[in-house]
Amino acid sequence: MTTSSYTDTRLLINGEWCDAESGKTLDVINPATGKPIGKVAHAGIADLDRALAAAQRGFETWRKVPSNERAATMRKAAALLRERADHTARLMTMEQGKPFAEARIEVLSACDIIEWFADEGRRVYGRVVPPRNINAQQLVLKEPIGPVAAFTPWNFPINQVVRKLSAALACGCSFLVKAPEETPASPAALLQAFVDAGVPAGVIGLVYGNPAEISSYLIAHPVIRKVTFTGSTPVGKQLAALAGQHMKRATMELGGHAPVIVAEDADVALAVKAAGAAKFRNAGQVCISPTRFLVHNSVRQEFVQALVKHAESLKLGDGLAEGTTIGPLANARRLTAMAKVLDDARSTGATIATGGERVGSEGNFFAPTVLTDVSLEADVFNNEPFGPVAAVRGFDNLEEAIAEANRLPYGLAGYAFTKSSRNVHLLSQHLEVGMLWINQPATPTPEMPFGGVKDSGYGSEGGPEALEAYLVTKSVTVMNG
Ligand code: NAD
Repeated sequence: MTTSSYTDTRLLINGEWCDAESGKTLDVINPATGKPIGKVAHAGIADLDRALAAAQRGFETWRKVPSNERAATMRKAAALLRERADHTARLMTMEQGKPFAEARIEVLSACDIIEWFADEGRRVYGRVVPPRNINAQQLVLKEPIGPVAAFTPWNFPINQVVRKLSAALACGCSFLVKAPEETPASPAALLQAFVDAGVPAGVIGLVYGNPAEISSYLIAHPVIRKVTFTGSTPVGKQLAALAGQHMKRATMELGGHAPVIVAEDADVALAVKAAGAAKFRNAGQVCISPTRFLVHNSVRQEFVQALVKHAESLKLGDGLAEGTTIGPLANARRLTAMAKVLDDARSTGATIATGGERVGSEGNFFAPTVLTDVSLEADVFNNEPFGPVAAVRGFDNLEEAIAEANRLPYGLAGYAFTKSSRNVHLLSQHLEVGMLWINQPATPTPEMPFGGVKDSGYGSEGGPEALEAYLVTKSVTVMNG
Protein backbone atom coordinates (compact mmCIF):
# COMPACT_ATOMS: atom_id res chain seq x y z
CA MET A 1 0.00 0.00 0.00
CA THR A 2 1.35 3.45 -0.87
CA THR A 3 0.82 6.61 1.15
CA SER A 4 -1.47 7.81 -1.68
CA SER A 5 -4.05 5.33 -0.37
CA TYR A 6 -4.23 7.21 2.93
CA THR A 7 -7.63 8.88 3.30
CA ASP A 8 -8.50 12.36 4.57
CA THR A 9 -10.70 12.38 7.68
CA ARG A 10 -13.91 14.34 8.15
CA LEU A 11 -16.14 14.86 11.16
CA LEU A 12 -18.95 12.42 11.93
CA ILE A 13 -22.02 14.40 13.02
CA ASN A 14 -25.58 13.05 13.08
CA GLY A 15 -24.60 10.01 11.01
CA GLU A 16 -22.98 12.07 8.21
CA TRP A 17 -19.32 12.60 7.40
CA CYS A 18 -18.81 16.33 6.93
CA ASP A 19 -16.19 19.06 6.74
CA ALA A 20 -15.88 21.64 9.51
CA GLU A 21 -18.21 24.58 8.91
CA SER A 22 -15.15 26.83 8.71
CA GLY A 23 -13.52 24.47 6.18
CA LYS A 24 -10.45 24.38 8.45
CA THR A 25 -8.17 21.32 8.31
CA LEU A 26 -4.92 20.11 9.88
CA ASP A 27 -2.17 18.12 8.15
CA VAL A 28 -1.52 14.52 9.11
CA ILE A 29 2.17 13.56 9.09
CA ASN A 30 3.65 10.11 8.49
CA PRO A 31 6.13 9.69 11.38
CA ALA A 32 8.31 7.38 9.27
CA THR A 33 8.98 10.12 6.70
CA GLY A 34 8.06 13.39 8.40
CA LYS A 35 5.93 14.18 5.34
CA PRO A 36 2.21 15.09 5.19
CA ILE A 37 -0.02 12.28 3.95
CA GLY A 38 -3.50 13.73 4.39
CA LYS A 39 -5.76 16.10 6.24
CA VAL A 40 -8.22 16.05 9.10
CA ALA A 41 -11.17 18.40 9.57
CA HIS A 42 -10.84 20.85 12.47
CA ALA A 43 -14.14 21.38 14.28
CA GLY A 44 -15.20 24.75 15.67
CA ILE A 45 -17.93 25.57 18.20
CA ALA A 46 -20.70 25.51 15.57
CA ASP A 47 -19.71 21.93 14.65
CA LEU A 48 -19.64 20.94 18.32
CA ASP A 49 -23.12 22.39 18.85
CA ARG A 50 -24.47 20.26 16.00
CA ALA A 51 -22.66 17.20 17.36
CA LEU A 52 -24.08 17.79 20.86
CA ALA A 53 -27.64 18.19 19.59
CA ALA A 54 -27.23 14.97 17.61
CA ALA A 55 -25.83 13.18 20.68
CA GLN A 56 -28.88 14.23 22.71
CA ARG A 57 -31.26 12.91 20.04
CA GLY A 58 -29.10 9.80 19.60
CA PHE A 59 -29.35 9.08 23.31
CA GLU A 60 -33.14 9.30 23.28
CA THR A 61 -33.18 6.77 20.42
CA TRP A 62 -30.50 4.35 21.57
CA ARG A 63 -31.58 4.03 25.20
CA LYS A 64 -34.91 2.66 23.95
CA VAL A 65 -33.28 -0.04 21.79
CA PRO A 66 -33.43 -3.36 23.69
CA SER A 67 -30.02 -4.57 24.84
CA ASN A 68 -30.11 -7.71 22.66
CA GLU A 69 -30.64 -5.50 19.59
CA ARG A 70 -27.87 -3.15 20.64
CA ALA A 71 -25.64 -6.20 21.05
CA ALA A 72 -26.55 -7.46 17.56
CA THR A 73 -25.61 -4.12 15.99
CA MET A 74 -22.34 -4.02 17.89
CA ARG A 75 -21.49 -7.55 16.81
CA LYS A 76 -22.17 -6.55 13.21
CA ALA A 77 -19.76 -3.61 13.60
CA ALA A 78 -17.12 -5.99 14.96
CA ALA A 79 -17.59 -8.31 11.98
CA LEU A 80 -17.22 -5.41 9.52
CA LEU A 81 -14.11 -4.14 11.26
CA ARG A 82 -12.62 -7.63 11.19
CA GLU A 83 -13.21 -7.81 7.42
CA ARG A 84 -11.45 -4.44 7.07
CA ALA A 85 -8.60 -5.22 9.47
CA ASP A 86 -5.75 -5.06 6.95
CA HIS A 87 -6.86 -1.79 5.40
CA THR A 88 -7.51 -0.18 8.79
CA ALA A 89 -4.18 -1.39 10.19
CA ARG A 90 -2.34 0.14 7.23
CA LEU A 91 -3.99 3.49 7.85
CA MET A 92 -2.89 3.25 11.46
CA THR A 93 0.72 2.41 10.59
CA MET A 94 0.91 5.30 8.13
CA GLU A 95 -0.33 7.86 10.64
CA GLN A 96 1.03 6.44 13.90
CA GLY A 97 4.18 4.56 12.93
CA LYS A 98 3.75 1.22 14.72
CA PRO A 99 4.63 -1.92 12.73
CA PHE A 100 1.78 -3.24 10.59
CA ALA A 101 1.60 -6.48 12.60
CA GLU A 102 1.06 -4.51 15.83
CA ALA A 103 -1.56 -2.31 14.17
CA ARG A 104 -3.37 -5.40 12.90
CA ILE A 105 -3.42 -6.93 16.39
CA GLU A 106 -4.86 -3.65 17.70
CA VAL A 107 -7.68 -3.76 15.14
CA LEU A 108 -8.47 -7.42 15.78
CA SER A 109 -8.42 -6.98 19.53
CA ALA A 110 -10.84 -4.08 19.06
CA CYS A 111 -13.27 -6.57 17.48
CA ASP A 112 -12.87 -8.82 20.52
CA ILE A 113 -13.53 -5.84 22.84
CA ILE A 114 -16.68 -4.81 20.94
CA GLU A 115 -18.04 -8.36 21.08
CA TRP A 116 -17.31 -8.78 24.77
CA PHE A 117 -19.05 -5.53 25.67
CA ALA A 118 -21.96 -6.30 23.35
CA ASP A 119 -22.60 -9.47 25.33
CA GLU A 120 -21.90 -7.93 28.74
CA GLY A 121 -24.43 -5.18 28.00
CA ARG A 122 -27.11 -7.88 27.97
CA ARG A 123 -26.24 -8.67 31.58
CA VAL A 124 -26.71 -5.23 33.12
CA TYR A 125 -28.99 -6.30 35.93
CA GLY A 126 -30.73 -4.31 38.63
CA ARG A 127 -31.85 -5.82 41.95
CA VAL A 128 -35.01 -6.64 43.82
CA VAL A 129 -34.43 -5.84 47.50
CA PRO A 130 -36.55 -7.45 50.25
CA PRO A 131 -38.87 -4.72 51.59
CA ARG A 132 -39.59 -3.82 55.22
CA ASN A 133 -43.32 -3.70 54.46
CA ILE A 134 -44.66 -6.84 52.81
CA ASN A 135 -46.93 -4.80 50.51
CA ALA A 136 -44.05 -2.82 49.08
CA GLN A 137 -41.66 -3.68 46.29
CA GLN A 138 -38.10 -2.29 46.27
CA LEU A 139 -36.34 -2.16 42.91
CA VAL A 140 -32.85 -1.01 42.00
CA LEU A 141 -32.71 0.01 38.33
CA LYS A 142 -29.57 0.56 36.25
CA GLU A 143 -29.98 3.17 33.53
CA PRO A 144 -27.61 4.64 30.95
CA ILE A 145 -26.00 7.80 32.27
CA GLY A 146 -26.55 9.84 29.08
CA PRO A 147 -24.43 11.35 26.29
CA VAL A 148 -20.71 10.72 26.81
CA ALA A 149 -17.77 12.96 25.84
CA ALA A 150 -14.56 10.99 25.27
CA PHE A 151 -11.00 12.22 24.67
CA THR A 152 -8.42 9.77 23.39
CA PRO A 153 -4.71 9.87 22.52
CA TRP A 154 -2.55 8.92 19.55
CA ASN A 155 -0.62 5.94 20.90
CA PHE A 156 -3.41 3.39 20.36
CA PRO A 157 -5.70 5.26 17.97
CA ILE A 158 -8.35 2.52 17.92
CA ASN A 159 -7.90 0.73 21.21
CA GLN A 160 -8.26 3.89 23.30
CA VAL A 161 -11.56 4.70 21.58
CA VAL A 162 -13.04 1.23 21.40
CA ARG A 163 -13.01 0.43 25.12
CA LYS A 164 -14.93 3.61 25.89
CA LEU A 165 -17.22 3.37 22.85
CA SER A 166 -18.16 -0.27 23.40
CA ALA A 167 -18.95 0.13 27.10
CA ALA A 168 -20.99 3.29 26.46
CA LEU A 169 -23.01 1.78 23.60
CA ALA A 170 -23.60 -1.47 25.46
CA CYS A 171 -25.21 0.53 28.28
CA GLY A 172 -27.43 2.60 25.96
CA CYS A 173 -25.45 5.86 26.01
CA SER A 174 -24.67 8.02 23.01
CA PHE A 175 -21.00 8.77 22.47
CA LEU A 176 -19.12 11.78 21.13
CA VAL A 177 -15.36 11.38 20.87
CA LYS A 178 -12.57 13.81 20.20
CA ALA A 179 -10.04 11.40 18.81
CA PRO A 180 -6.38 12.30 18.17
CA GLU A 181 -5.69 14.85 15.44
CA GLU A 182 -2.33 13.18 14.71
CA THR A 183 -3.86 9.75 14.00
CA PRO A 184 -7.39 10.43 12.77
CA ALA A 185 -8.07 7.97 9.94
CA SER A 186 -7.95 4.70 11.88
CA PRO A 187 -10.43 5.80 14.58
CA ALA A 188 -12.64 7.08 11.76
CA ALA A 189 -12.51 3.58 10.21
CA LEU A 190 -13.64 2.17 13.57
CA LEU A 191 -16.62 4.50 13.72
CA GLN A 192 -17.41 3.81 10.05
CA ALA A 193 -17.89 0.13 10.94
CA PHE A 194 -20.55 1.13 13.49
CA VAL A 195 -22.28 3.46 11.00
CA ASP A 196 -22.31 0.65 8.41
CA ALA A 197 -23.64 -1.78 11.03
CA GLY A 198 -26.71 0.44 11.42
CA VAL A 199 -26.10 2.46 14.59
CA PRO A 200 -28.76 5.21 14.34
CA ALA A 201 -27.75 8.79 13.49
CA GLY A 202 -26.45 10.78 16.45
CA VAL A 203 -25.63 7.75 18.61
CA ILE A 204 -21.94 8.09 17.75
CA GLY A 205 -20.06 11.25 16.79
CA LEU A 206 -16.42 11.98 16.00
CA VAL A 207 -14.69 15.35 16.07
CA TYR A 208 -11.15 16.68 15.86
CA GLY A 209 -9.78 20.15 16.52
CA ASN A 210 -8.13 22.06 19.33
CA PRO A 211 -8.12 19.59 22.28
CA ALA A 212 -8.34 22.21 25.02
CA GLU A 213 -11.10 24.14 23.25
CA ILE A 214 -13.16 21.00 22.58
CA SER A 215 -12.75 19.50 26.04
CA SER A 216 -13.61 22.72 27.87
CA TYR A 217 -16.71 23.19 25.70
CA LEU A 218 -17.98 19.60 25.84
CA ILE A 219 -17.30 18.92 29.52
CA ALA A 220 -19.13 22.08 30.60
CA HIS A 221 -22.06 21.51 28.22
CA PRO A 222 -25.32 20.39 29.88
CA VAL A 223 -25.96 17.68 27.24
CA ILE A 224 -22.87 15.75 28.34
CA ARG A 225 -23.39 13.54 31.40
CA LYS A 226 -20.14 11.57 31.48
CA VAL A 227 -16.51 12.36 30.68
CA THR A 228 -13.83 9.82 29.87
CA PHE A 229 -10.21 10.67 29.10
CA THR A 230 -7.02 8.79 28.33
CA GLY A 231 -3.78 10.77 28.24
CA SER A 232 -1.19 12.38 30.45
CA THR A 233 -1.61 12.92 34.19
CA PRO A 234 -1.33 16.75 34.04
CA VAL A 235 -4.06 17.03 31.38
CA GLY A 236 -6.17 14.42 33.19
CA LYS A 237 -6.04 16.45 36.40
CA GLN A 238 -7.24 19.55 34.53
CA LEU A 239 -10.11 17.69 32.89
CA ALA A 240 -11.09 15.93 36.14
CA ALA A 241 -11.23 19.32 37.87
CA LEU A 242 -13.42 20.69 35.09
CA ALA A 243 -15.68 17.64 35.28
CA GLY A 244 -15.94 18.14 39.04
CA GLN A 245 -16.84 21.79 38.61
CA HIS A 246 -19.76 20.75 36.38
CA MET A 247 -20.67 17.68 38.48
CA LYS A 248 -19.97 15.25 35.64
CA ARG A 249 -18.95 11.66 36.33
CA ALA A 250 -15.45 10.99 34.99
CA THR A 251 -13.11 8.14 34.17
CA MET A 252 -9.41 9.03 33.97
CA GLU A 253 -6.92 6.61 32.43
CA LEU A 254 -3.63 8.47 32.87
CA GLY A 255 0.11 8.00 32.79
CA GLY A 256 2.09 5.23 34.40
CA HIS A 257 5.67 4.35 35.26
CA ALA A 258 5.53 0.58 35.49
CA PRO A 259 8.01 -1.20 37.72
CA VAL A 260 9.31 -4.62 36.62
CA ILE A 261 10.58 -6.61 39.57
CA VAL A 262 12.88 -9.48 38.64
CA ALA A 263 13.42 -11.52 41.79
CA GLU A 264 16.46 -13.63 42.69
CA ASP A 265 14.57 -16.81 41.73
CA ALA A 266 13.09 -15.45 38.47
CA ASP A 267 13.24 -17.17 35.11
CA VAL A 268 15.50 -14.50 33.58
CA ALA A 269 14.93 -15.60 29.99
CA LEU A 270 11.16 -15.35 30.50
CA ALA A 271 11.51 -11.92 32.13
CA VAL A 272 13.48 -10.60 29.16
CA LYS A 273 11.14 -12.18 26.65
CA ALA A 274 7.97 -10.92 28.32
CA ALA A 275 9.01 -7.54 29.70
CA GLY A 276 11.52 -6.81 26.92
CA ALA A 277 8.90 -7.34 24.23
CA ALA A 278 6.42 -5.26 26.22
CA LYS A 279 8.98 -2.48 26.68
CA PHE A 280 9.60 -1.92 22.98
CA ARG A 281 6.04 -2.54 21.72
CA ASN A 282 4.74 0.60 20.03
CA ALA A 283 8.24 2.06 20.60
CA GLY A 284 7.51 2.31 24.32
CA GLN A 285 4.63 4.76 23.82
CA VAL A 286 2.32 2.76 26.02
CA CYS A 287 0.82 3.78 29.37
CA ILE A 288 1.47 0.29 30.77
CA SER A 289 4.98 0.08 29.29
CA PRO A 290 7.54 -1.51 31.64
CA THR A 291 9.92 1.30 32.62
CA ARG A 292 11.75 0.82 35.91
CA PHE A 293 13.46 -2.56 35.73
CA LEU A 294 14.33 -3.51 39.32
CA VAL A 295 16.53 -6.58 39.11
CA HIS A 296 17.96 -8.63 41.96
CA ASN A 297 21.71 -8.03 42.02
CA SER A 298 22.46 -11.76 41.74
CA VAL A 299 20.86 -11.92 38.27
CA ARG A 300 21.30 -8.31 37.15
CA GLN A 301 24.26 -8.85 34.82
CA GLU A 302 22.64 -11.83 33.12
CA PHE A 303 19.39 -9.88 32.75
CA VAL A 304 21.04 -6.77 31.29
CA GLN A 305 23.06 -8.80 28.77
CA ALA A 306 19.93 -10.58 27.56
CA LEU A 307 17.87 -7.38 27.43
CA VAL A 308 20.58 -5.61 25.41
CA LYS A 309 20.69 -8.59 23.04
CA HIS A 310 16.91 -8.39 22.67
CA ALA A 311 16.98 -4.61 22.03
CA GLU A 312 19.73 -5.02 19.44
CA SER A 313 17.79 -7.76 17.65
CA LEU A 314 14.88 -5.43 16.90
CA LYS A 315 14.55 -4.08 13.37
CA LEU A 316 13.85 -0.36 13.38
CA GLY A 317 12.07 0.95 10.29
CA ASP A 318 8.94 2.06 8.51
CA GLY A 319 6.09 0.04 9.99
CA LEU A 320 4.90 -0.95 6.51
CA ALA A 321 8.30 -2.36 5.50
CA GLU A 322 8.77 -6.12 5.63
CA GLY A 323 10.46 -7.31 8.82
CA THR A 324 10.12 -4.09 10.84
CA THR A 325 9.67 -4.88 14.52
CA ILE A 326 9.88 -1.34 15.93
CA GLY A 327 8.62 1.77 14.18
CA PRO A 328 9.35 5.49 14.54
CA LEU A 329 8.11 7.58 17.45
CA ALA A 330 4.63 8.87 16.70
CA ASN A 331 5.51 12.56 16.56
CA ALA A 332 8.51 14.86 16.59
CA ARG A 333 7.76 15.95 20.21
CA ARG A 334 8.75 12.49 21.36
CA LEU A 335 12.19 12.78 19.72
CA THR A 336 12.81 15.99 21.65
CA ALA A 337 11.55 14.30 24.82
CA MET A 338 13.87 11.30 24.30
CA ALA A 339 16.90 13.55 23.75
CA LYS A 340 16.13 15.26 27.08
CA VAL A 341 15.69 11.96 28.91
CA LEU A 342 19.03 10.71 27.55
CA ASP A 343 20.92 13.94 28.34
CA ASP A 344 19.63 13.79 31.87
CA ALA A 345 20.49 10.08 32.21
CA ARG A 346 24.07 10.75 31.06
CA SER A 347 24.51 13.68 33.41
CA THR A 348 23.17 11.69 36.38
CA GLY A 349 25.66 8.88 35.80
CA ALA A 350 23.73 6.21 33.87
CA THR A 351 25.53 3.85 31.51
CA ILE A 352 24.02 3.51 28.04
CA ALA A 353 24.24 -0.22 27.44
CA THR A 354 22.73 0.10 23.98
CA GLY A 355 20.95 2.71 21.84
CA GLY A 356 20.59 6.19 23.27
CA GLU A 357 20.21 8.22 20.12
CA ARG A 358 18.14 9.18 17.14
CA VAL A 359 18.67 7.08 14.03
CA GLY A 360 18.85 8.85 10.66
CA SER A 361 17.60 12.34 9.93
CA GLU A 362 14.28 11.52 8.24
CA GLY A 363 11.33 10.35 10.34
CA ASN A 364 11.23 10.01 14.12
CA PHE A 365 13.43 6.95 14.59
CA PHE A 366 15.01 6.37 17.99
CA ALA A 367 17.16 3.36 18.83
CA PRO A 368 15.84 0.86 21.39
CA THR A 369 17.73 1.86 24.51
CA VAL A 370 18.85 0.11 27.69
CA LEU A 371 20.26 2.19 30.56
CA THR A 372 22.01 0.69 33.57
CA ASP A 373 23.34 2.14 36.84
CA VAL A 374 20.46 4.60 36.67
CA SER A 375 20.29 7.04 39.56
CA LEU A 376 17.05 7.35 41.53
CA GLU A 377 17.19 11.07 40.77
CA ALA A 378 17.35 10.53 36.99
CA ASP A 379 14.40 11.91 35.04
CA VAL A 380 13.75 8.50 33.47
CA PHE A 381 13.26 7.00 36.93
CA ASN A 382 10.70 9.63 37.91
CA ASN A 383 8.74 10.81 34.88
CA GLU A 384 7.03 8.72 32.23
CA PRO A 385 9.57 8.50 29.36
CA PHE A 386 6.93 7.32 26.85
CA GLY A 387 9.59 6.00 24.51
CA PRO A 388 11.82 2.97 23.85
CA VAL A 389 13.94 3.29 26.99
CA ALA A 390 14.42 0.57 29.62
CA ALA A 391 16.12 1.75 32.82
CA VAL A 392 17.71 -0.87 35.08
CA ARG A 393 18.68 -0.77 38.75
CA GLY A 394 19.68 -3.55 41.10
CA PHE A 395 18.20 -4.47 44.50
CA ASP A 396 19.13 -6.83 47.33
CA ASN A 397 15.82 -7.74 48.92
CA LEU A 398 12.23 -7.77 47.73
CA GLU A 399 10.96 -5.31 50.34
CA GLU A 400 13.43 -2.75 48.97
CA ALA A 401 12.16 -3.34 45.42
CA ILE A 402 8.52 -3.00 46.51
CA ALA A 403 9.32 0.27 48.28
CA GLU A 404 10.98 1.60 45.13
CA ALA A 405 8.05 0.44 42.97
CA ASN A 406 5.65 2.36 45.23
CA ARG A 407 7.84 5.48 45.53
CA LEU A 408 6.31 7.34 42.57
CA PRO A 409 2.86 8.93 42.51
CA TYR A 410 1.92 6.71 39.53
CA GLY A 411 0.09 3.42 40.02
CA LEU A 412 -0.98 1.92 36.71
CA ALA A 413 0.74 -1.34 35.69
CA GLY A 414 3.35 -3.47 37.40
CA TYR A 415 5.22 -6.60 36.38
CA ALA A 416 7.07 -9.20 38.41
CA PHE A 417 9.02 -12.38 37.76
CA THR A 418 9.52 -14.93 40.52
CA LYS A 419 9.05 -18.64 41.13
CA SER A 420 8.19 -18.34 44.79
CA SER A 421 4.61 -18.23 46.01
CA ARG A 422 5.75 -16.20 49.02
CA ASN A 423 7.03 -13.50 46.67
CA VAL A 424 3.85 -13.64 44.58
CA HIS A 425 1.83 -13.13 47.75
CA LEU A 426 3.98 -10.20 48.93
CA LEU A 427 3.90 -8.52 45.51
CA SER A 428 0.15 -8.94 45.04
CA GLN A 429 -0.50 -7.53 48.49
CA HIS A 430 1.88 -4.60 48.52
CA LEU A 431 2.35 -3.18 45.03
CA GLU A 432 0.33 0.02 44.58
CA VAL A 433 -0.85 -0.58 41.01
CA GLY A 434 -4.15 -1.05 39.23
CA MET A 435 -2.87 -4.00 37.18
CA LEU A 436 -0.21 -6.55 38.03
CA TRP A 437 1.15 -9.17 35.66
CA ILE A 438 3.34 -11.88 37.19
CA ASN A 439 5.52 -14.21 35.11
CA GLN A 440 3.95 -13.04 31.90
CA PRO A 441 3.64 -10.05 29.58
CA ALA A 442 0.69 -7.65 29.83
CA THR A 443 -2.56 -9.19 28.64
CA PRO A 444 -5.20 -6.51 28.98
CA THR A 445 -8.29 -8.54 28.06
CA PRO A 446 -11.74 -6.91 27.97
CA GLU A 447 -13.03 -9.13 30.79
CA MET A 448 -10.41 -7.89 33.29
CA PRO A 449 -10.53 -4.42 34.88
CA PHE A 450 -8.16 -1.93 33.26
CA GLY A 451 -7.18 1.23 35.12
CA GLY A 452 -4.90 2.80 37.67
CA VAL A 453 -4.64 4.13 41.20
CA LYS A 454 -2.96 7.25 42.62
CA ASP A 455 -1.93 9.75 39.90
CA SER A 456 -2.68 7.17 37.20
CA GLY A 457 -6.35 8.02 37.48
CA TYR A 458 -9.60 6.38 38.46
CA GLY A 459 -12.30 4.21 36.97
CA SER A 460 -11.90 1.07 34.95
CA GLU A 461 -12.08 0.29 31.25
CA GLY A 462 -12.46 -3.46 31.50
CA GLY A 463 -14.67 -6.02 33.17
CA PRO A 464 -18.13 -5.32 34.58
CA GLU A 465 -16.64 -2.23 36.28
CA ALA A 466 -16.28 -0.64 32.84
CA LEU A 467 -20.05 -0.78 32.34
CA GLU A 468 -20.71 0.68 35.79
CA ALA A 469 -18.98 3.84 34.58
CA TYR A 470 -21.79 4.44 32.06
CA LEU A 471 -24.72 3.62 34.34
CA VAL A 472 -26.67 5.45 36.98
CA THR A 473 -28.59 3.79 39.77
CA LYS A 474 -32.23 4.56 40.47
CA SER A 475 -34.06 3.07 43.43
CA VAL A 476 -37.81 2.67 43.05
CA THR A 477 -40.09 1.73 45.92
CA VAL A 478 -43.70 0.86 45.12
CA MET A 479 -46.46 0.34 47.67
CA ASN A 480 -49.13 -1.98 46.37
CA GLY A 481 -52.61 -0.96 47.47
P1 NAD B 1 -0.29 16.05 25.93
O1 NAD B 1 -0.15 15.72 27.37
O2 NAD B 1 -0.57 17.46 25.61
O3 NAD B 1 -1.43 15.17 25.25
C1 NAD B 1 -1.76 13.86 25.60
C2 NAD B 1 -3.13 13.59 24.96
O4 NAD B 1 -4.09 14.43 25.58
C3 NAD B 1 -3.20 13.95 23.47
O5 NAD B 1 -4.01 13.00 22.84
C4 NAD B 1 -3.85 15.33 23.44
O6 NAD B 1 -4.61 15.54 22.27
C5 NAD B 1 -4.75 15.28 24.63
N1 NAD B 1 -4.95 16.58 25.24
C6 NAD B 1 -4.01 17.49 25.57
N2 NAD B 1 -4.58 18.56 26.15
C7 NAD B 1 -5.91 18.31 26.18
C8 NAD B 1 -7.03 19.03 26.67
N3 NAD B 1 -6.90 20.21 27.28
N4 NAD B 1 -8.25 18.47 26.53
C9 NAD B 1 -8.41 17.26 25.94
N5 NAD B 1 -7.40 16.53 25.47
C10 NAD B 1 -6.16 17.05 25.60
O7 NAD B 1 1.02 15.73 25.17
P2 NAD B 1 1.51 14.69 24.09
O8 NAD B 1 2.80 15.23 23.58
O9 NAD B 1 0.47 14.33 23.09
O10 NAD B 1 1.85 13.41 24.97
C11 NAD B 1 2.77 13.60 26.02
C12 NAD B 1 2.52 12.72 27.16
O11 NAD B 1 1.18 12.31 27.28
C13 NAD B 1 3.29 11.45 27.05
O12 NAD B 1 4.60 11.64 27.49
C14 NAD B 1 2.54 10.52 27.93
O13 NAD B 1 2.99 10.68 29.25
C15 NAD B 1 1.15 11.03 27.86
N6 NAD B 1 0.27 10.16 27.05
C16 NAD B 1 -0.34 9.14 27.70
C17 NAD B 1 -1.13 8.27 27.00
C18 NAD B 1 -1.81 7.12 27.70
O14 NAD B 1 -2.12 6.12 27.07
N7 NAD B 1 -2.10 7.23 29.01
C19 NAD B 1 -1.29 8.43 25.63
C20 NAD B 1 -0.66 9.50 24.98
C21 NAD B 1 0.13 10.37 25.72
